[in-house]
Amino acid sequence: MTAPSLDTLLRDSELAPHLRAAALKVKDGQRITPEEGLMLYEEAPLGYLGALANHIRERKHGDRTYFNRNFHVEPTNVCLYTCTFCSYSRRIKKREDGWEYSLEDILDIVRQYDEQPVTEVHIVGGVLPQYDVAFYSDLFRRIKAHRPDLHVKALTPVEYHYIFKKAKISYEEGMRLMKEAGLDSMPGGGAEIFAEEIRDQIAGGKCSGEQWLRIHEIWHELGMRSNATMLYGHIEEYRHRIDHLEKLRALQDKTGGFQTYIPLKFRNANNELSHLPETSVVEDLRNYAIGRIYLDNFDHVKAYWPMIGRTTAQLSLAFGVDDLDGTIDDTTRIYSMAGAEEKNPALSTEDLVKLIRAVGRQPIERDTLYGVVADYTDVEFAGDKEYRGYTALPVV
Ligand code: SF4
Repeated sequence: MTAPSLDTLLRDSELAPHLRAAALKVKDGQRITPEEGLMLYEEAPLGYLGALANHIRERKHGDRTYFNRNFHVEPTNVCLYTCTFCSYSRRIKKREDGWEYSLEDILDIVRQYDEQPVTEVHIVGGVLPQYDVAFYSDLFRRIKAHRPDLHVKALTPVEYHYIFKKAKISYEEGMRLMKEAGLDSMPGGGAEIFAEEIRDQIAGGKCSGEQWLRIHEIWHELGMRSNATMLYGHIEEYRHRIDHLEKLRALQDKTGGFQTYIPLKFRNANNELSHLPETSVVEDLRNYAIGRIYLDNFDHVKAYWPMIGRTTAQLSLAFGVDDLDGTIDDTTRIYSMAGAEEKNPALSTEDLVKLIRAVGRQPIERDTLYGVVADYTDVEFAGDKEYRGYTALPVV
């Protein structure tokens, strides 16, 4: 499934005037308004959205499609909070069913990757009192002392808000301490949906949308980078998604510190919102495309392939996505517990490269800050040679 080019779309004399106006803005590199964004969610067909989003994606990146080699560490899946969409947390009342790693346990996991060509460790998990400022400062320092070149991407404003409050320090002081300890960047999680009327229902008690944005702002002011997510497809309406995107775009105008926008699909297994249906693949692709169109000041849009499956991930590359997350031996359990498409999301570099090449894109291994580690466009794998070298003899 691919969309027409933007020029082909604009040649269609039957294109509705308001859709034509938005398409022309995209062609001219202009920004669309919140009203136009809402109109796109409510009315725009998939092919139209693909044409606009792919135009932006190719203007920014051509066929380049990024991935990085990282591993995940989840210190605990026990959590004080009770987010209704969360399938991951063993609530504090069921603590014995979960895991709570010590500092040494986590360092053991890091050491398991000593011989692996990974560039990043991604650390995120539940919120518990023993995981405090001292614990994480110590952890980041120890990881850096052990492997200085490993990029530490860790914790979200959900954890930072909690640990700084507990330590009675300001966000500014807290983020400075984290930076000094070795934190390199922040992942995009915990954003969910910023609008209070929705956030209170699905993620009550944890940091507010304003606090999430403020912590990222402070981090950016320290000269550092982070990502942003949006959890969609539960009880929110389109207007809440636009409100969310608008707040991200406004902060990005101010700081320029976001690298990547990652839409996260709500999955309904094993949580309190299991009665809700999940969004269709068409809606997922529409959502990627609108994110790409709306966030004109974000460089990258990423799809987390274990959550949506390999085929939808391939399709997403024609709807604004330029980055696929989840590479070799993906160790996160967050999405598999929520009913993700891939129960055991391990894909070798070769498999991921071939998945990207199969849809005509150019696979680029990157580091966390999008420095190019390797261009796999023309790389041949050992198996390819064996395969190509084999010629079946005629049976006589
Ligand atoms: S989403 Fe995060 S903060 Fe909410 S319950 Fe799950 S682990 Fe805790």
